[in-house]
Amino acid sequence: MPETYDAIVLGLGAMGAAATYQLARRGARVLGIDRYAPPHEFGSTHGDTRITRIACGEGPEYSAFAARSHDIWRELEGETGLDLLTQNGFLAISGAGNRSANHGVAQFLDATVAAARFAGVSYEILDGATLRRRYPALNVADGDQAYHDTVGGFARPENCVTAQLRAAVARGAELRLGETVLSFVQQHGSVSVATNKQTYSASQLIVAAGAWLPAMLKPALAANFMVTRQVLYWFRARSEAAHAEFSPERFPVYIWQLPAPQSIYGFPATGGLDEGVKLATEQYDVATTPDSVSRSVPAEEVRAMYETYVEPFFPGLSPVCVRSKTCLYTWVDKARFIIDRHPDSDRVIVASPCSGHGFKHSAGVGELLAEMVTIGRKPDPRFAF
Ligand SMILES: Cc1cc2nc3c(=O)[nH]c(=O)nc-3n(C[C@H](O)[C@H](O)[C@H](O)COP(=O)(O)OP(=O)(O)OC[C@H]3O[C@@H](n4cnc5c(N)ncnc54)[C@H](O)[C@@H]3O)c2cc1C
Repeated sequence: MPETYDAIVLGLGAMGAAATYQLARRGARVLGIDRYAPPHEFGSTHGDTRITRIACGEGPEYSAFAARSHDIWRELEGETGLDLLTQNGFLAISGAGNRSANHGVAQFLDATVAAARFAGVSYEILDGATLRRRYPALNVADGDQAYHDTVGGFARPENCVTAQLRAAVARGAELRLGETVLSFVQQHGSVSVATNKQTYSASQLIVAAGAWLPAMLKPALAANFMVTRQVLYWFRARSEAAHAEFSPERFPVYIWQLPAPQSIYGFPATGGLDEGVKLATEQYDVATTPDSVSRSVPAEEVRAMYETYVEPFFPGLSPVCVRSKTCLYTWVDKARFIIDRHPDSDRVIVASPCSGHGFKHSAGVGELLAEMVTIGRKPDPRFAF
């Protein structure tokens, strides 16, 4: 007889770790399974930092998740002693003329202001001269302006996964790491999950497989998702003084709608001069898969990034790229999330809250997923397949 659980969570990245923790916290008998040992570098939840903001220009339906995540991370910091959340402020910068969209939203600064009002977040609007004075690291133009709040900042994705898995195990969750789910099927009022090692059974299954999700769905459902390769860069500042301008005490996280093809987003320095300063753009043009993606970053790609997106806007950063990483977005049209019951199997919950902005919501999404299992909570219909 297969072992039986209240819930199995397939995938223990940002979403699966959060769901496992929240299920265990509610006293559910839960098994989490991952093909690797999260946190790891093969999916979507690595690279030291993720922007978090409660004013979400992607839509007002997201803010409550981010706000809950902040509360949950603060509680977990107390329990685990890990560093999870830094609220050093958030800037959404834009300006006159044609600007790149962010997550499909052309007027991202205006949308962020609307979201802040909706969520009750206090903010200020800064003009170009004020921005330059306050943040000398940014080469903003005279006509540029920015939204600024002090509740945004950055989360530590690897630590968040570790903290939630640790807290889940402390509450009785079982984990199987290095074990790959090959198939799942709903039958006789339960879900049977077969891995490369054994078969388990649960009352409900949460599929939080990130970029591996499309390959687990029939083509008609998989067509909702596009997996894209993203690159993170850490450039070294030109001097200790230039590096200091990026310290979290002085420098917020930012999303900058540029005249260049893409927006750029970035973080304060989280280490010394030789650890560089992290920033990135996004690409949505070329689809890939976790198995076929190129994980190396050639020198020409680094050079093009520096020339187009770094040198013109960050005069204190040198062309020396001390580190780069590839990562995967699982994109849904209009940067939406899909959190819904599987159309053919009502005991299977599919969770794909990514579209390049999911991390900040993950702890709150974990709570929703757990309550879908334990009390039949219904997700917002905007997250339906
Ligand atoms: C470069 C980059 C920058 C980002 N920046 C931000 C940001 O600044 N702010 C923000 O809020 N969000 C950001 N995001 C989005 C956010 O990081 C993702 O939405 C989130 O990490 C996705 O988590 P996940 O749990 O869905 O996927 P993952 O963390 O990838 O987890 C999926 C897990 O499923 C496991 N798995 C898959 N298949 C199987 C199987 N068959 N059997 C067992 N296990 C399996 C995998 O091993 C993996 O651990 C960014 C994403 C990227 C890639």
